[in-house]
Amino acid sequence: MQSTRVVPTTEDDPSPSKSSTKSLLDSPQQSDDSGKSEPRTDARHDNPPSHPDGALRASNPLSPIPKGKMPWWRPIYWSVLLSILQIINLQVLALLPLLLLALLFRTFWFSSKSYSRPPSSLNVAVIGAGWTGLQVTGQFKDLGVDSVRCYENMNDVGGTWHKSLAYSGLKIHTPSWMASFAGFPYTKNPPGQKPTKLEIEQRVHNTDLQTYFKKYATHKSINDKFVFNSKITQVSYDSKTKKGHVTIYNSKTKRATEEGPFDAVVFTGYATYPNKPDLPGENDFLANGGQVYHSCNVNDALLASLVSQNKKVIVVGAGKSSCDLVLQFVEQRGSRNLTWLFRRPYQFMRCEKFFHNRSVWGMLSGFMVMIFWMIALLFPQLSWNVLRGSGHAWTYRNTKDTKHDYSTFHFGMLDPRQRYILEHEAPQLVGNPVGFTNKGLRIEKDDEILIANVVIFCTGYRSGVDQIKTVKDGKPHELELDKKLFEHIICPDFPILSSCTNFSTTAGPMRGASVSEYLIYHLCVRRQASEEAMRVQANRLFGQFTLRQSILFADGFFQKWIRLLLDLVLRGLIPWQHLLIHFIQILLFGFTRPPTMNLLPRLPKKWRKGGGAELREELVIKDGVYGGFMAET
Ligand SMILES: Cc1cc2nc3c(=O)[nH]c(=O)nc-3n(C[C@H](O)[C@H](O)[C@H](O)COP(=O)(O)OP(=O)(O)OC[C@H]3O[C@@H](n4cnc5c(N)ncnc54)[C@H](O)[C@@H]3O)c2cc1C
Repeated sequence: MQSTRVVPTTEDDPSPSKSSTKSLLDSPQQSDDSGKSEPRTDARHDNPPSHPDGALRASNPLSPIPKGKMPWWRPIYWSVLLSILQIINLQVLALLPLLLLALLFRTFWFSSKSYSRPPSSLNVAVIGAGWTGLQVTGQFKDLGVDSVRCYENMNDVGGTWHKSLAYSGLKIHTPSWMASFAGFPYTKNPPGQKPTKLEIEQRVHNTDLQTYFKKYATHKSINDKFVFNSKITQVSYDSKTKKGHVTIYNSKTKRATEEGPFDAVVFTGYATYPNKPDLPGENDFLANGGQVYHSCNVNDALLASLVSQNKKVIVVGAGKSSCDLVLQFVEQRGSRNLTWLFRRPYQFMRCEKFFHNRSVWGMLSGFMVMIFWMIALLFPQLSWNVLRGSGHAWTYRNTKDTKHDYSTFHFGMLDPRQRYILEHEAPQLVGNPVGFTNKGLRIEKDDEILIANVVIFCTGYRSGVDQIKTVKDGKPHELELDKKLFEHIICPDFPILSSCTNFSTTAGPMRGASVSEYLIYHLCVRRQASEEAMRVQANRLFGQFTLRQSILFADGFFQKWIRLLLDLVLRGLIPWQHLLIHFIQILLFGFTRPPTMNLLPRLPKKWRKGGGAELREELVIKDGVYGGFMAET
């Protein structure tokens, strides 16, 4: 029989509350599932905390972080960066005539377009009132689509940032200017007043975001568009009329109703369904008093209670949410009783390089990032190596045996303080959890058992689109979840449904503005393509995303994202120069607007100010009535 090593996950803990943990450790359960007893070894972490006050951080949470020295080899990487930049400059110059021709052609092509129907004649259903749902709804209204219903499963706006999903300490990891609604910057000031400099640079806490979302809805007068506690369980589509209906389950009234007809159903879900691995033996662990959570369950109260009860905690995962929770634990109590377990480290951007102080040096640094994202299109490994070498990218684990995987970048940013703690004070352990035993987590390497009271999985989220049933022409229809979407947004086999999960023209909620513009263009301006034509064109796209595979959690994020943007440019949806300007705004000057798509022609006079709304079909609610309301703050 294979032997199993049992490894306690903590340092010896002299605190009085140890007794409760001790009983778990010293009980007859000191054996693996097979009942075999093994002596306990000493506590082990791959990087024992090196900071002298590591375990005392709770009493001194703002202790200074030592300044690191610049490595001698960094200038070499910068020289490489500058040389590559020169080569790219020459290539752009050579391509300039072609790019100018493309620009002229696009301008000419779009100037010949006109509306076939007024936007005010559309009925649109939006699924999800996260920040994208809010932006999509607000932008539709600005562009003349007034009949929008935004259905939300939860009792309030917010999505990822809703209090029932936000883990302890969750903040946006970019400054607020990159996570604001288009034309409505984050501020606590009354609408119309400018944000303070501090607010512009601030990484906003989830509760403040929630308040900001409501302020946006009130400012846009769209409160009455939201229908809460309402889960869309089914979308049906009639391919003759090209209209759809949605079935809504209201968790308060426990009744299902049907509403429609809609010209478009826009799914905005992104990261609200926890993705937790189903490891064998979890029930044994739970039956023995163990606790298992997904990161989204670990709110302030739970974290405080785990800390006060001195529980042995394993945080599983390598991405941003694991970093955030590890930081919360370390900041609150030092690194005692915590193990951070991951298979391989993720790459992060250094926050201060990406969001620099707009000095000449900072701008040059931002420019380098832009160039290297583009290089990532063809040479992701080279791109990341140089970005790491030049000090733009970073990872928390730098031992010689570490295998770096440059595909595991999910757009995380960390500041110097966070990086220091994660690298020097967080008790890291590399390993692959393969199952539970009654007293902890079994990891693949050497078949060890990590003793724990609590296991927290920081293993990402799903969008939830796979939970929606679809019916086409009266018959059940299986959505092609693993096929590419037409222009990365419309389901070719079920064109009433579009998913903006991957339509990432930019970061933050602003991409919702591009979604609304695109859909109006698609429904009211361009000629409708057949399902077959859409399927063929979807297959030709460079981007790999599907309905199920969200951009955020895709391996090789940058390469795939640049491909997606390239697709949108090649399809004529975003002018290349506007995308370039957009990146220059973000990376060099530190502000952003949604990249201008310029898809919509000038609206005829008779349709301005809602003219043409009489062409809209009346929305009918079958079996039940819904009233829009905004939940109390
Ligand atoms: C921990 C974490 C931190 C992040 N930090 C950042 C950051 O700093 N900056 C950044 O740009 N991005 C960040 N992201 C990505 C982030 O999720 C998205 O940028 C953003 O929250 C997505 O918003 P959304 O509205 O598109 O989707 P979501 O926030 O996922 O909202 C979707 C909404 O749809 C609802 N819904 C889903 N299915 C249905 C249905 N069938 N019926 C009714 N309602 C439904 C859900 O309840 C939810 O409210 C982070 C993600 C996570 C998980």
